[in-house]
Amino acid sequence: MRKFVAEETKKIKQKSLWRSPAILENARSNHVVLDGKKFLNFSSNDYLGYAQHPEVIRSAQKALEHYGAGGRSSRLISGTLDLHRELEEKLAAFKGAESALVFPTGFMANLGVLASLLNEGDAVIMDRLNHASLIDAAKLSRSRLFVFDHASAESLEKVLKRTKSYRKRLVVTDSLFSMDGDFAPLKEIVALCGKHKVWLMIDDAHATGIFGGRGIGMAEHFGELGKIEIVMGTLSKALGSQGGFVCGSKEMIDFLKNRARTFIYTTALSPSSCAAALTALELIEKEPGKRKKLLSASQKLREAIQKKFPLNSKYIGDSGSQIVPFWVGPVEPAMAMSEHLKAAGIFAPAIRPPTVPQNECRIRFSLTSDHSESDIERLIQAL
Ligand SMILES: *Cc1c(COP(=O)(O)O)cnc(C)c1O
Repeated sequence: MRKFVAEETKKIKQKSLWRSPAILENARSNHVVLDGKKFLNFSSNDYLGYAQHPEVIRSAQKALEHYGAGGRSSRLISGTLDLHRELEEKLAAFKGAESALVFPTGFMANLGVLASLLNEGDAVIMDRLNHASLIDAAKLSRSRLFVFDHASAESLEKVLKRTKSYRKRLVVTDSLFSMDGDFAPLKEIVALCGKHKVWLMIDDAHATGIFGGRGIGMAEHFGELGKIEIVMGTLSKALGSQGGFVCGSKEMIDFLKNRARTFIYTTALSPSSCAAALTALELIEKEPGKRKKLLSASQKLREAIQKKFPLNSKYIGDSGSQIVPFWVGPVEPAMAMSEHLKAAGIFAPAIRPPTVPQNECRIRFSLTSDHSESDIERLIQAL
């Protein structure tokens, strides 16, 4: 085993793909402190700055004092608190679903759903660029994985036509792609799933709290609320907390409580995380200006990049969101660019395989509503 570890380590290093996280002394939505120095941060998923919002912090503190720190037990044994129920009711109401279930992480929510609903003899049909947790969930479910071309309804339809013989089928797509910042064509996908009578699940991790008039997510943005059987999301991005969730019919959610192993055999989400997410959900309703500011700043950044590099329209791909990739390609120049930005006081790590495919390295800028116009100006100058 030791030989295996040493050899694999060497291989990763030879390909310049070795990763070790930067140790930050503090991290905020718009800045980080590293080696005593402050950098502008363009790598946070705390899109609305709620992880550091005074009201979010206060309600987490109150929950800590009232309930204590840990989750203590599995939800099914003695871990379910009134706070979990309150959060699940609020999430269901927010997403316009009958019911919701909270998991300790979004990754576990995806594993739990797919492994519970699918089995050998079933087919799961996914976008090529779906999040790693969905790929692992498909493997865990033991169903057969079919992949369609990225954001292509046409390709999905072809797969739907040739998988008719499977006992059960589930179509799964990210709604807003985490490394490209572009969208799934949800209108077309919903129509296709209706036509072929298969359920659709979306992973709304990056759109929850940001997209749609009320911040409900991509289903609202595309006018498809109530038409998607399973909507998964995370409390760890725009909600500034920690944990994952699934929304759907009461029947399905009750089934997941009885079947999802990542729900049953793990400790309940901590009370302070529940309370933080609950308050963040209230803030999303109260502060629509924040997501508007974020999306207009994102548009400004995309336009500025296109203006500065008019000869290469590929740099930002099809991004239409707060996630703005800057395509580089091979590993070494991507690393060099990240270093250059760091020298200019900007923290934005290069994204390399296995997070993105070979030779599709990029800098992934994620904006937050706490970035000022001058922060974005500084980034554009440094590019
Ligand atoms: C972050 C993310 C997850 C996992 O959520 P966690 O709560 O961080 O485990 C799942 N899907 C997508 C698309 C994500 O970006």
